[in-house]
Formats: sequence, structure tokens, C-alpha cells
Amino acid sequence: AELDTLDVIVLSLILLGTVAYFTKGKLWGVAKDPYGATFNNASGAKAGKTRNIGEILDESGKNCIVFYGSQTGTAEDYASRLAKEGKSRFGLETMVADLEDFDIDSLDTVTSDKVVMFVLATYGEGEPTDNAVEFFEFLTGDEPAFSQSSDVPLGSLNYVGFGLGNNTYEHYNLMIRAVDKALQKLGANRIGEAGEGDDGAGTMEEDFLAWKEPMWTALADKMGLEEREAVYEPIFSITESSATESSLVYLGEPNKMHLDGKSQGPFNAHNPYVAPIAESHELFTVKDRNCLHIEVDVSGSNVSYQTGDHLAVWPSNAGAEVDRFLDIVDLAAQRDTVVSVRALEATTKVPFPAPTTYDAIVRYHMEICGPVSRQFVATLAAFAPDEASKAEMTKLGGDKDYFHEKVSAHSLNIAGLLKAVSKGKKWASIPFSAFVEGINKLQPRYYSISSSAVVQPKKISITAVVESQVIPGREDNLRGVATNYLYALKQKQNSDPSPDAFGLTYQTAGPRNKYDGIQVPVHVRHSNFKLPSDPSKPIILVGPGTGVAPFRAFVQERAKLAADGEAVGKTLLFFGCRKSTEDFLYKDEWEEYKRVLGDNFELVTAFSREGKNKVYVQHRLKERAEEVNKLLESKAYIYVCGDASHMAREVNTVVGQIIAGQRGISEAKGDEIVKSMRAANQYQEDVW
Ligand code: FAD
Repeated sequence: AELDTLDVIVLSLILLGTVAYFTKGKLWGVAKDPYGATFNNASGAKAGKTRNIGEILDESGKNCIVFYGSQTGTAEDYASRLAKEGKSRFGLETMVADLEDFDIDSLDTVTSDKVVMFVLATYGEGEPTDNAVEFFEFLTGDEPAFSQSSDVPLGSLNYVGFGLGNNTYEHYNLMIRAVDKALQKLGANRIGEAGEGDDGAGTMEEDFLAWKEPMWTALADKMGLEEREAVYEPIFSITESSATESSLVYLGEPNKMHLDGKSQGPFNAHNPYVAPIAESHELFTVKDRNCLHIEVDVSGSNVSYQTGDHLAVWPSNAGAEVDRFLDIVDLAAQRDTVVSVRALEATTKVPFPAPTTYDAIVRYHMEICGPVSRQFVATLAAFAPDEASKAEMTKLGGDKDYFHEKVSAHSLNIAGLLKAVSKGKKWASIPFSAFVEGINKLQPRYYSISSSAVVQPKKISITAVVESQVIPGREDNLRGVATNYLYALKQKQNSDPSPDAFGLTYQTAGPRNKYDGIQVPVHVRHSNFKLPSDPSKPIILVGPGTGVAPFRAFVQERAKLAADGEAVGKTLLFFGCRKSTEDFLYKDEWEEYKRVLGDNFELVTAFSREGKNKVYVQHRLKERAEEVNKLLESKAYIYVCGDASHMAREVNTVVGQIIAGQRGISEAKGDEIVKSMRAANQYQEDVW
């Protein structure tokens, strides 16, 4: 019988669906390309390249692949460093890879003469980083199915593992621990210890350095590698071109679409939206500290958000710091020279789009103000301008305590360090590629959104304290990159006479003045920090300092719902700051919300510098033990936001104690109840 048209359509759809299922959408999936069309050859797994791990290693003649699960770039940086060191010290043929770019079910295709390295950050509440979600779910799920079936599917896999975590969070280094366990269970062979770096203790870099030495020894032993004198071998070629600036040269634009002036969605961690700042003002009343309320207007885009999400701000470095850096490396005169940047191997990614200029790289793409890695200092010794500087760099690179005393204790950045070591002499012979490799990529900063998506879906506000620290023995303060950039934008918008922001001279107009008219590149990151879907549920909010940011959004939203006639449950907000007259954020707004929400809203304040004794939100919680417990018993949700290291921990303990005391049970039992509340999302944290 002949098929009629409907049959043909149905059959075609089934066929298409089947193909989609078996190819996981790869046939027509657009290859993810952070920098736009011109960068197709930049990474190992772009369009047309395999996603099979064994295949990529064989095709490219590599015997070591270093995977990273990275959120803020640190894990990615450590992965690059391992790859480089493996090559220069041991002659390993290495490549660095984003977990997202490969199929993890092909791990069993890696042969036993090779090694796979995992550098995995744990994010927030024991979560995988965005690029590691699939990897993690696959490996730790029930019976992961590999491409070839076997009882010990990973019997021939040699691996190395390092985790980046923060001991102030409950699930410290969960990623590396869980992945290590899963790999062992699947028969894989770990070389060396599974290392753990602790950001909470501030020892990440030293933990990494201490872990990797015995790992290299074990790996060299296992693979029969000979150590050789490490000499610097560039992985990028950076060549100056006589071409003058043209429309093809990136002057800080994050990708091709931005260069072409056709900024379009989807907006995400690879592609920011350049948002006009609708409003900006100061929230503190004191002179020496600043806190900004900034509202960005996303009505010209399809950017959307939910209450509780984060806004990522893409900063650029302060002009004063860019100048200082270019000056000490003797590139000030060539700052606008056009350079092309090529990866010397097909499997290496160029971390920013090119052709570009030295100025644009330093200003928009390198974290030149951040802490310096001790290992990097050792690498630079070979390029010192004189023998004394060389000896000093070698000493700094090799001696942990000396490095701390001379560099970390003064929070020096790379330019500050170079200048101090050489006493101002220029470092003209450092290959620029060494900086591209040794300095982290400039990262967007996250802010808890302080507006409600119900009240103002197209205007996103954030509440940010301007980072400024007095460093003993240093003339200038240590100033945060993103918050001082935002400060400069605020000054400019309000026509303040000192738009320079403490003499930092940010290029607020952006590349080719594309951000002029007070605009800032941003994207929204989804978070799990969410109000209960039923607004009649009571909530307890604990947010001292800028930790109050998402709670302004929560209360704003509940007030709107109440005004619209919805039943809204009790909202009990604990806020703390130094003085009611200095840093009491949104002081007047709370009164307005109170007018709408009535007795259903209560603000409990703790001012640490007003009375004889320092009072913090934890103390206020304790004073309200009976009420807090009652609310929790009536299924209130509790939210904690702000400082991860002290406050959030103490609040956790206090809530456990309150439950124990009020219900007449042991503190251990109280703690367990808090744990189960966390598991059920009844206790949520947004901490940093
Ligand atoms: P950076 O330049 O990143 O410096 C930050 C710190 O790093 C410095 O204070 C210093 O301790 C250290 N540092 C920098 N350079 C050096 C050096 N050379 N040597 C030694 N140490 C150095 N912040 C808010 O104000 N409000 C919010 O609502 C908010 N929400 C957040 C939500 C999330 C999920 C996260 C992860 C963070 C949040 N933050 C928030 C923090 C924010 O993202 C930034 O970290 C903060 O604003 C500082 O950024 P910055 O670029 O100004 O400072």
C-alpha cells in the first residue's frame, strides 16, 4: 500500500527523533564557540572534531589530558599549569580540556600508557561547576554505561585528581571526593593522592604546590618518565603586526558578535549583555566606606531573571594598574600595537579573541591585580633584568615562607612584585606568552540580585560593597577590581566631580566607546536560592551587611504580593551592620514594606558598634529562640546570605542550638534536624 502524506510526516518525525536520540543532538547542535566564528580551530573539540577522549588523544599524539571543572577560572588555571609542567619537566604530551567538550562515557577508551588528570572545583553547596554537571551525574549515577561493556570498565585508566574547595562549606571538596570514589569503584588506577585545596583557609596555592610534587614522582615512576631541566616553552605564539587598528581588531570586545556590533542573545558566561545602568547611588552615609545600589536595564534584550538569581558583572582593570603593568614589562610604548595570538597546538585554547592589542589583553582579559602564584614567579626568574633580580625571583619561587613575607603579606600583584624585585628596572625580556599562561583570565564577579523579578522583571539591581583594604606597610589600599569599576560608573552617572574613582581611571566607555552612556556588560546566572512557591509560608531571613541583598528582593516581592491581595506569611528578617547611622542598608525602604505587610513583617537589627558589646545577627536569633523554633515547626523556610566563613557557620550552629533548646533534645539531634532541613531545601544559603 502506498504511504499517504500523513504517514510520511509521522515516519519522518520518528526517524528524526531517533537520530536526535542517538546522536544526542550533535548532528545539528551548534558547536559552542565562546569567541564567535573566527575561533573554530581554537579548541580540541570544536565542530567536526571528536568528542571521544581516546580518539582525541590518539589523533593528536597526546598521552595526557587534563580536564577541568571550573566556575571562576581557578581550576582551569591549575589544569593549564599541570599540562605545562608535565610537558616542560617530564616531556608528557599534554592537552587541557573542558569537561563539557567531551563524552565522558568514552573514558574507557583511554589506554594504559596514558594518564587523565581531573582538576575539579566544588561550587557552593557541594555542587559541580556548570561545566561539570553532566560529567558528575554520569560518573556518580547508578551504573554508568561506558562505550564498551566490561566488569571493570575503567581497568586501564590511569588518573590523577586535585580538588578545589572551601572548608567553610559543609560539603568540602565533595567533587573530587565523590569522583575519586566513583573512579576507584569502576576499576581505575589513581596515581598519587587525590589532592584537596582549601580556599577557606586561604591555602589553595600552597596546597596545590604541596600536592603536585609527590604526584609527579609517582607519575614519573608509573609511566617511566625522565625529569629534565624545565625550560620555558611557550604554548602561544604572539606576534606583532604592522597593521594599524582596524575593524577586525578586538579592543576588548568579548567575542565576534560584540566586535561586529550585533550583540545578541543568548546572553551567558560566554556572551555578556551590555546593559545600560538605569540608576546608581551610594547606600552608606560614611566617607571612608562605600556600598553601591546599581540597577541595570535589560528591557532592550531578552535577558530574564528569577528572584534569588545572581548577576555577573564583567569588569575591566583600572587604567592605573594597566599602565603600571605595561610600564614594568616595557610595553607602554607598544600598548596599541596589534598582535595576533595563536595556540601552538591545535588542542590549546587561546583564552581571548584576537587579533588584539597588548592594552586590550591586559585591560580586559588578564587578572593582573590578583594574587601572584609562587610557581609563576619561579618561571619568570629566567627573564630577570639582572642577576640580583634573578636570584631574588628564584628564592621567592622556592621558599614558601619568604614568599609570604615579601609578597602575600603586602598583597602585591604581579606588576608590584616585579617592580619591587628589580627596584624599578624594566623586565623587557619576558615573553608576553608567559603572562598569558601564568596570569588568570579576568573573571566576571557575581552579585546576589537585590530586586524582585515580579516587581521589576526588566530592571535588575545589585548591592555591592566597594572593596578597599588597608594593607600594613603599603601606601595605597588594595582595591577590588569590579567594585571600584562599578564605583567609577556610579560617579560618572551622577556627574560626580571625581569620576576617576580614587585615581584608578577606569575605561568606563568600554572598547571603541561601546559602553558609553553608562553601560556595563552583564549576564544572569541561575541560582537555587528561591522563595517558597507558596507565599503564605513563613520565612526567616538572616542577612547581615550585603547579605541582605537577596532579602531586599524577597521582601519587595512579598510586599507586592500582599498589595495584590495574596495571603503572605510571616517574614522575619535579621539584619546587622556596624551602626544604624552609617551602613544600615535600605533603612527607609523597610518602613515602606512594613506599611504594606503590617505585623507580618518584622525587621530585627543588630548594630555591632553601638552598644558596649558587639552584637551580631546570631545573638538576635538566639534572643528570638522561641519564635524562631515555632516558625520552623510551622514549616518556615530559613535563608542565610552573606559571609561564608564565619557568619553562615555560626548561624547554622545557633539554629541547631535553638531547635535543641526549645524541643528539649540534644545539640547533636538539633544539628541533624538542620541537616535534614538543608536536604529538603527548607534551609538555604547564598554565601560567598
Ligand atoms: P577583587 O579584585 O576580586 O578582590 C577581592 C579580594 O581578593 C580582595 O578584597 C582581597 O582579599 C583579595 N585580593 C585581590 N587582589 C589581591 C592581591 N593582589 N593579593 C592578595 N589578595 C588579593 N558582593 C557584594 O558586595 N554583594 C553581593 O550581593 C555579592 N553577592 C555574591 C554572590 C555570590 C554567589 C558570590 C560568589 C559573590 C558575591 N559577592 C557579593 C562578592 C563579589 O562577587 C566580589 O567578590 C566582590 O565584590 C569583590 O570583587 P572585586 O572585583 O571588587 O574584588
